[in-house]
Amino acid sequence: MTPVISVKDVNKTYASGHVALKTINLDIREKEIFALLGPNGAGKTTLISIICGIVNPTGGTIHVNGLDIARDYRAVRSIIGLVPQELSTDMFEPVWSTVSFSRGLFGKKPNPAYVEKVLRDLSLWDKKDSRIMTLSGGMKRRVLIAKALAHEPRILFLDEPTAGVDVELRKDMWQIVRGLRESGVTVILTTHYIEEAEEMADRVGVIANGELILVQEKTELMRKLGKKQLTVELQKPLTEVPSRLAAHALELAPGGHTLVFTYDTQAERTGITALLNDMREAGIGFKDLATSQSSLEDIFVDLVRQTK
Ligand code: ATP
Repeated sequence: MTPVISVKDVNKTYASGHVALKTINLDIREKEIFALLGPNGAGKTTLISIICGIVNPTGGTIHVNGLDIARDYRAVRSIIGLVPQELSTDMFEPVWSTVSFSRGLFGKKPNPAYVEKVLRDLSLWDKKDSRIMTLSGGMKRRVLIAKALAHEPRILFLDEPTAGVDVELRKDMWQIVRGLRESGVTVILTTHYIEEAEEMADRVGVIANGELILVQEKTELMRKLGKKQLTVELQKPLTEVPSRLAAHALELAPGGHTLVFTYDTQAERTGITALLNDMREAGIGFKDLATSQSSLEDIFVDLVRQTK
């Protein structure tokens, strides 16, 4: 399938000399939810700003729906919606007019029925006549989404949609994003909440120090997440894993006092019973057992550390 967004060899050095992105290559599939995960300053906002045509790349090309964003800027911009981190204008405007105005900016004819649907879907309908400055922080976030959806974009970028919001609103946001995907919108969101990527994304990209260091299916990451380790402290040190235990996924830790068994928590059988039986038959005694689980957070922290 042709990707809906294709980013090729994109890099960005700001006028200050700061290298924000180094050779980014990324394809976004139609109707997926893609989470761009990374610590503060990693380059997430820079990357989505470049794709949306707000920031010029220093090098590289971007195609959206087969169109070159540099050559066909207006056409590309009309199929993209961008939800920025903060609302900067419109504080004195009522919700209805600010959302309708956003639609007009993209040359779309007025469509009150569509604007009403957007406001209803975002639970903003009863606030349609309220001035934005009078709304709560959570409602303001919803207005940002409504504005970004006003011109019926096929691709929606959300920059840190749930930074600093409470748990309830975060769950609402996730529901809204899922609903958008069901209606056929491709969603790219940036986040530094690992939990958010776990919950929402079909695929996850990890960006650190301006480099895209991993792009993977979320389920694949979850498989890694599902891995647990059983650490077996031995009564007597070994020099190697005995051949009788070769069938088990075992590693002997340096020093030979500890065997580490990696297993899949989601598998029907972990293999622990079989391992302990085989150890007994091989005459290998143990002093202690402990289990530990690697989380997506561990994987993420390790990945980010390696690029420093
Ligand atoms: P956050 O999670 O904090 O929003 P981010 O991953 O979105 O971070 P960016 O906003 O893309 O990161 O910034 C990447 C780097 O580029 C940062 O070091 C930032 O200070 C720098 N930067 C961003 N905008 C500019 C600019 N206009 N001029 C110079 N440097 C910039």
